[in-house]
Amino acid sequence: MRTLTSTRSYVAASDLEAVLKGIASEGGLFVDPDLDLLSVNVDGLINKDSFGIASVILGTLLSGFEEPESLVRKAYSNKFSCGDVITPVVPLTDGISVLELFHGPTSAFKDVALSLLPLLMSQAREKIDPDKEIVILTATSGDTGKAALEGFKNVTGIRILVFYPEEGVSEIQKKQMVSQQGDNVGVCAVRGNFDDCQTAVKEAFIKLQDSDQLCGVSLSSANSINIGRLVPQVFYYYSSYVQLVSQKRIKQGDLIDFVVPTGNFGDILAGYYAKMLGLPIGKLVCASNSNNVLTDFFAKGVYDTHRPFIMTSSPSMDILVSSNLERLLYYAFCGNRERVAECMNRLKKEGRYTVPANDLKELKKDFAAYFCDELQTREQIRKTYKEYGYLIDPHTAVGMFAAEKYMNENMNQRHTVVLSTASPYKFTSAELDALGLASTGSPFDDMRLLNECTGAKIPEQLLGLETAEDRFRDVINREELVSYAIDFVKKGGSGS
Ligand SMILES: *Cc1c(COP(=O)(O)O)cnc(C)c1O
Repeated sequence: MRTLTSTRSYVAASDLEAVLKGIASEGGLFVDPDLDLLSVNVDGLINKDSFGIASVILGTLLSGFEEPESLVRKAYSNKFSCGDVITPVVPLTDGISVLELFHGPTSAFKDVALSLLPLLMSQAREKIDPDKEIVILTATSGDTGKAALEGFKNVTGIRILVFYPEEGVSEIQKKQMVSQQGDNVGVCAVRGNFDDCQTAVKEAFIKLQDSDQLCGVSLSSANSINIGRLVPQVFYYYSSYVQLVSQKRIKQGDLIDFVVPTGNFGDILAGYYAKMLGLPIGKLVCASNSNNVLTDFFAKGVYDTHRPFIMTSSPSMDILVSSNLERLLYYAFCGNRERVAECMNRLKKEGRYTVPANDLKELKKDFAAYFCDELQTREQIRKTYKEYGYLIDPHTAVGMFAAEKYMNENMNQRHTVVLSTASPYKFTSAELDALGLASTGSPFDDMRLLNECTGAKIPEQLLGLETAEDRFRDVINREELVSYAIDFVKKGGSGS
């Protein structure tokens, strides 16, 4: 078992409790204060497959969970459409490879974490409070909701209710959610945009937390600040290294760089964990879209949310408060919780905080940061397809742009891996636009058009949506969300 503490105080929890709770009682995030004492030597993983590597990482970082290998097998077997390597590395040039993270059931990288989190939560529930049912409430701007629904579907003792903004998810994303299978799931549209929806869900959480209307059920969330979502992501940094060695593109011991399309800072933080555990990583390059709050942070040491929120073609990275950065601050401040708490208080009160120059200098040894605007994103999709015949989604394009810029500026000799976080077929209109093709008006005809023009394979589960039946049709006003959630809790079983 690992004992974790909050980033902001000495509130402690076992790894099992931390996964169940999600967040510490004073609002801090759970971290392992002894992370620097742990290590995973990649040399010992060279002959292992995805399951073997993932279970070593899980068994090291969350050792309180029993039978990590069987959890991992259950999470990933037959769910990822690419055989035994669930996150394949594809060579692009001599110096750049792409780590494809989108072969899971919902075609986004969040599947890797959200396939395992429900099993972790389930085991923690069995051990800590087996009689208590858990209801997951989640607001989604698209990718999280569907990946969470797929992960939690038919998990015993846990039900999940997802709210999405009626305006603000793509047609494909909506169809993915309203056709969701499973007896323990509910999906409901909320009138308004994502902010309205998220605020209403947060309010519902606070109202319901200790309410007797919950009938003994406990509430939890599937968002990316849960340590049980972070840990599963460490695995694919190791896996990509092992693959590059076996492809003979690097030698054992070589340093490599990773470029990560970033929103909430969860994915790239998992890379930082891998580096702390001893994986030979040179730099972690943080790639942002026009919401470039992190680029400015790494340039100036000032995290400042006073800026317009820009809707982009890479919506999963349209974020101004990157929650997981708090964990990086904890490690950068050498575990000084008062300093983390001080930054988070300032962020809450003033919308900004500053990190001293010497800390920033240390951070820059591990991180570089670049951003890519909308025009550059489109151009990058077009260029990458034209030069290499390889179709990337808008989030990955942001990463690819950052990778090229970083490599040019630093005359980089190290092998660079760009994380590819979604299938281009989730964002067909942006793709067609980038390639100079006109949309047909139907998302499924658009998929076929994109396929005819590029030859890139359409993920079966996305094409299958065309004939999938809608199960969830409810649309509510945000004021109705609390009573809708209570009804779901009381009903038990399906929310349809
Ligand atoms: C969530 C998401 C990201 C951002 O990941 P973070 O862990 O939030 O930084 C990038 N790309 C896609 C497609 C996503 O769904």
